[in-house]
Amino acid sequence: MPARGILRGDMEKTLIILKPDCMEKRLAGVVLDRFQKAGFDIVAAKLTRLAPGLLAEHYAHIADRPFFPPLAQFMGSRPVLVAVLQGEGVIAKVRELLGPTDSKKAPKGTIRGDFGTDVTVNVCHASDSPESAVAEIARFFLPSELFA
Ligand code: UDP
Ligand code: MG
Repeated sequence: MPARGILRGDMEKTLIILKPDCMEKRLAGVVLDRFQKAGFDIVAAKLTRLAPGLLAEHYAHIADRPFFPPLAQFMGSRPVLVAVLQGEGVIAKVRELLGPTDSKKAPKGTIRGDFGTDVTVNVCHASDSPESAVAEIARFFLPSELFA
């Protein structure tokens, strides 16, 4: 049995957000199960409703795009589950498990391909690089909230 939890604080981490469509369809368990079955640990988690200011910060890279207002409205429409996953190669592997942004183009067998609706309503967010993972984890969690 590999060492878990507090023994693996230096392991790679990523931030995920189970989006409002995932919560509304009661798919949180199904989606988390895919990440856990891939060998990743949940080291932080909370339910929260994303305020407009936080969404503007989180989506700063696309805030000037025409789809940002409907995206922000969707993301703030109900509480979401924000979590930190940990494990070797977790950032790239979780993105692979999600599939491409547009659920309609995502292959079956990926989370977005199986459960997503379209390019906006796509089940789950995940950090896309080591740099964004560090920034996104710090955006949503205090260091003391990570059991890593
Ligand atoms: N999005 C959208 N329309 C687009 C592109 C993106 O509504 O044409 C939304 C979608 O919910 C996506 C989020 O904006 O997940 C962030 O976009 P990004 O390009 O970072 O995609 P992701 O990293 O989530 O695949
Ligand atoms: Mg992204």
